[in-house]
Amino acid sequence: MQQDSGQNNHQTNSQPAQETANSGLTRMTGLLTRHVFHHSGTELMQTHPELKYAMLVMDIANFKSVNVFCDRKKGDEMLLYISDYLKGYWNDLTLVSHFRADTFALLRPFEDKQELIDTALALHAYVDAFPLPFKVLPSIGICIRPTPDTPANNMCDYATMALKEIKGKFYAKYNFFDERMFQDLLQEKQIENEILHALESNQLRPYIQPKVDMRTKEIIGGEALVRWIHPVQGVISPGQFIPVLEKNGLIINVDFHVWEQIFRWLGERVKVGKPVVPISINISRMHAYDNTFQEKLIGLSKMYEVPASLILLELTESAFLSDANSVYQNMVKLKEHGFTLSMDDFGTGYSTMTMLKDQPVDEVKVDKGFIDNIENENVQIILDNVIYMLRSLKKTIMVEGVESASQQKYLLERNCNFAQGFLYYKPMPITDFDALLDP
Ligand code: C2E
Ligand code: CA
Ligand code: CA
Repeated sequence: MQQDSGQNNHQTNSQPAQETANSGLTRMTGLLTRHVFHHSGTELMQTHPELKYAMLVMDIANFKSVNVFCDRKKGDEMLLYISDYLKGYWNDLTLVSHFRADTFALLRPFEDKQELIDTALALHAYVDAFPLPFKVLPSIGICIRPTPDTPANNMCDYATMALKEIKGKFYAKYNFFDERMFQDLLQEKQIENEILHALESNQLRPYIQPKVDMRTKEIIGGEALVRWIHPVQGVISPGQFIPVLEKNGLIINVDFHVWEQIFRWLGERVKVGKPVVPISINISRMHAYDNTFQEKLIGLSKMYEVPASLILLELTESAFLSDANSVYQNMVKLKEHGFTLSMDDFGTGYSTMTMLKDQPVDEVKVDKGFIDNIENENVQIILDNVIYMLRSLKKTIMVEGVESASQQKYLLERNCNFAQGFLYYKPMPITDFDALLDP
């Protein structure tokens, strides 16, 4: 085994495992580099079409703690300890690699699935036995080669996907890549491929769900909710494509497209003197990283001559926590321009009274989760206190997801009058919302 100098060891924990010139081996552990592993792995499987192959990828969730709470030397020792073990598998038909820091991979032939489980469990137990003052959490993702021509790098991606599902969960040691994950991945790729065309050809359109005053059923506002009107699949709801767009950043383009349609529509109504109500638009947390975000909203308001007071910006509760500074600063500026700020999904994260008192929020949307179980006495205690707290902080309370007359009754008895829910209206195309507003 090839031991390394202290200097190089220092690099290995945070950077890709270093490659020795032309050897295809990592300097620190002497295992194959990722690149060579992918290449040789694919070749090996092609040479042995008679064998079934599987990829195992291992990653240690809290490996950084070893460096932080012990020291880097201990971290490096641990990586060498693992690679020593993996070398035991390395032969003409089986390859092992050190990808980076705490990520290792093993490509091996097998006959039945149990062999793979046994390998994963043995590797897990071995890593677990490394003497440390605390437990580390290795997870192993396994991908059985799905088709006879799947290359090794795709198998690594699939195994990594399976791994990510269990990463950091102490009760799960390994996870197989399965058909469901494959379908999810296909769908994700399809969305990525189609979304730009969908934007250009106007397949992404805002629907609007009215907000009502439950006492009178009067429409007091609306929330813009995007729909993908797909030429083949029909109407696709945002839950299916927004998470993918948040991963690849395209949510920024989609949100802007939705906002623009809302501003244009509102501007036209204002211009001809038709009745209007304030409309909420959803702001993905990704905008916290887009420094043209404020200019875009202010620009739209000017261009379409829509007073900022007609627009509520809905930002999900957890965004106020995780990206606190940038979100906060953006929001304060937008408020100065007259926009109204709404905290969405209140009660799903970890909001506290202290946090709320510091936020420039005008409206709070109480999450549907609260009223789904409104018959439960404990839920009632919490909800009553949430209402009391929000009212004391002088926030407008908007309850989401009201579906039944009994929920309505409960809320009205507590003077909680504003709601959005299927009991009143579902999200609808803008033309239908027009018809509701027109006298
Ligand atoms: P959200 O912002 O919490 O929106 C409310 C969701 O609850 C909507 O789902 C709405 O149709 C649904 N809903 C409202 N009342 C009821 C009810 O009484 N019962 C039930 N079961 N559901 C109700 P939708 O339209 O599928 O949107 C899902 C999420 O996607 C939204 O949750 C929001 O986070 C996101 N989203 C939607 N449009 C956009 C958009 O243009 N931009 C961004 N960034 N996110 C969007
Ligand atoms: Ca919302
Ligand atoms: Ca919500």
